[in-house]
Amino acid sequence: METKDANQFINDFMVYVKTKNPGEVEFHQAVHEVIETLAEFLIENPRYIQSKIMERMVEPERVIMFRVPWADDKGQIHVNRGFRIEMNGAIGPYKGGLRFHPTVNLSILKFLAFEQVLKNSLTTLPMGGGKGGSDFDPKNKSDNEVMRFCQSFMTELQRHIGQYTDVPAGDIGVGGREIGFLFGQYKRLRNEFTGVLTGKGIEWGGSLIRPEATGYGTVYFAEEMLNTKGDSLKGKIVTVSGSGNVAQFAVEKVIEYGGKVVSLSDSSGSIYDPDGIDAEKLNYVMELKNVYRGRIREYAEKYGVRYMNKQRPWAIKCDVALPCATENEISGSDAETLLKNGCFVVSEGANMPSTYEAAHQFMSNKILYAPGKAANAGGVAVSGLEMSQNSMRISWSREEVDDKLHTIMRNIHAMCVKYGTDKNGWVNYVKGANIGGFVKVANSMMAQGLV
Ligand code: NDP
Repeated sequence: METKDANQFINDFMVYVKTKNPGEVEFHQAVHEVIETLAEFLIENPRYIQSKIMERMVEPERVIMFRVPWADDKGQIHVNRGFRIEMNGAIGPYKGGLRFHPTVNLSILKFLAFEQVLKNSLTTLPMGGGKGGSDFDPKNKSDNEVMRFCQSFMTELQRHIGQYTDVPAGDIGVGGREIGFLFGQYKRLRNEFTGVLTGKGIEWGGSLIRPEATGYGTVYFAEEMLNTKGDSLKGKIVTVSGSGNVAQFAVEKVIEYGGKVVSLSDSSGSIYDPDGIDAEKLNYVMELKNVYRGRIREYAEKYGVRYMNKQRPWAIKCDVALPCATENEISGSDAETLLKNGCFVVSEGANMPSTYEAAHQFMSNKILYAPGKAANAGGVAVSGLEMSQNSMRISWSREEVDDKLHTIMRNIHAMCVKYGTDKNGWVNYVKGANIGGFVKVANSMMAQGLV
């Protein structure tokens, strides 16, 4: 098929998506990236076009939006908005995280839910795709305020979820504390103890390795990509953004593999530690972020290193970049700087951290570039393993779960290589992940009739 046909196909499809979903720029960006790499495959396999599979996949099966009223410690009343996008249930119950952040809106959650469908398919586990959350900001709130918010949020959400229908997990702003409050309220309202959420505490149905899974998986994926070149993370200089759940465990695994992590960040700025973040410094970060809920600037003060106010870490010279904070955190010019400084591996711990321009720069320079839906799938994969353990009423050891996670990441890598290798042997991981994730969902939808 001529390239012109593919371009026309992409343009027509994007006009359709933009017209139906005006103003949802993050959602447009996520769909655009997928359709660009899928177009030729779809044209070669017209049954998907005739069945309007892509038109069906960009339309959520269900969108739930609801009011979340709660009272702060002073008795003042606040009203937030809650969401759950049940995007695609063709291969299993909807599965995907909850995000609590003031920027949360329909566009961001639809982009995340759309990505989640393909990601969950890539894990090979039976999970559909969903995403949810609220524009609530847990920063500077007391534990009691967070609890009251979570209880109000779950009072409505509980009608829509369940172990066989929709199983949420954590994401930005939703960690172990929030999952605990949400689970407690679900249990009170429904009077049942089931695996309705993942990321639970280890004493009450959680899985070992779930907190570590996304960060570890992102690093396993980077190592796997390097291995294809006979190389490894040992001795590599690594920049990491973020300092939350994903970033912390990515750093832990890079240290274990013998790489040197020189940066971390939060929404206020970045630190640059040229000597590298070792296990002791990482322990400090975990306490700072997970217990005291402090700012990364305090790391710079404690260890006497540079703090870059309001800056991201992409100007620091590195071999490997692991963006682990949020979407669109690597701009086109950041990507240019990274490439100019010799960065040749990017493994995305966050979801869509590269802008459209940045992703295209990585691809046209043919570096080892893994999109989030492949590289950060370890989190949802271990959530899937948590669901299996809950159903079987057993718990696997740390080693068993970590082995399964490692195997899943290797399999996702192999799937990307299978669908993404071009004529000259370069692996387009974006294309590989999109086609690899798409085929199973599309075939399942076709087998199930007009769903
Ligand atoms: P956390 O809330 O634990 O940490 C998020 C980190 O990113 C914090 O350091 C936060 O800084 C920073 N951050 C958040 N928003 C922004 C912003 N707008 N600009 C700059 N920095 C920001 O979240 P996670 O670590 O769980 O999630 C990080 C990324 O990984 C997200 O893209 C998420 O969707 C993705 N992901 C997470 C999975 C998981 O299992 N948790 C699974 C797969 C993907 P601050 O504290 O200042 O807000």
